Amino acid sequence: MGNSKYLDSLNKKEYDKLSRKLWDIQNHKCFICEQEIDIDLNNTNIDHIKPLANNGKDELMNFAITHEHCNKTKQDADLIVAKKILKLEKIIQEAENNGETASLKHVLKVFNGSKYDFKCKIKNNDLLYSFDEIGDVEIKKSTIYKDVLSGEKTAFIEVPLEYLYHDDDLNPRGLNKSVNLLIKEFYKPNPQLQISLARIDDNKIKIFDGQHKTVAQIMLGVTKIVVRLFIDSDFDKLMTTNLNAGKQLKQIAFDKAIVRQLHD
Ligand SMILES: [Zn+2]
Repeated sequence: MGNSKYLDSLNKKEYDKLSRKLWDIQNHKCFICEQEIDIDLNNTNIDHIKPLANNGKDELMNFAITHEHCNKTKQDADLIVAKKILKLEKIIQEAENNGETASLKHVLKVFNGSKYDFKCKIKNNDLLYSFDEIGDVEIKKSTIYKDVLSGEKTAFIEVPLEYLYHDDDLNPRGLNKSVNLLIKEFYKPNPQLQISLARIDDNKIKIFDGQHKTVAQIMLGVTKIVVRLFIDSDFDKLMTTNLNAGKQLKQIAFDKAIVRQLHD
């Protein structure tokens, strides 16, 4: 696209031949929106999957064919990231079309999540559990930590999406645009710094804090999410604490002065 020596070197016939070749490789689907391309009727582009600016190579393996419209309106120069963001936007749009606020709940539904109850028991200072509904019969064990001051009991566990739910009661807010920034950040790949928080309610593991981080991971293909799981937690206490964290204590906002120092 303009900066490709490879594409610039092709005459019209060679360019059309390459278009058809990529179209066949991609099973006649656009790389970004994954909808069908009619090679006779649709305007198309050939673009680098990984941009040259990010050290993508100017060669066949790094080319994809897209609808011209999808390429012009893409939300990231990297076509894989652009594809993930567009897919999430479709999930959000569909929820809104149904009059609902799009949240982690809708993303989990699309990715085969939120299917099973969580079975666990406490033995000594450990949480014992298994995910046998998805064929993992191993009994897993996580240490239970008791918070000295509040007395809250928590364990760190890795939860398959099939066992993960969104907590509508504690976190009724929907997704906002910041999730796209997280998708870009995790794709780089930079690690997630803060862990999502969940609780057991109605025999289900429900995420009540960190839905954006969780959604970004799921969109990038992660199928197990590490959470800090509150056991036997008090709903009102968690509700108050969660509100305080966001509103009064501003734990969530990174102080701008610290950000500046980190970049110096
Ligand atoms: Zn498309």
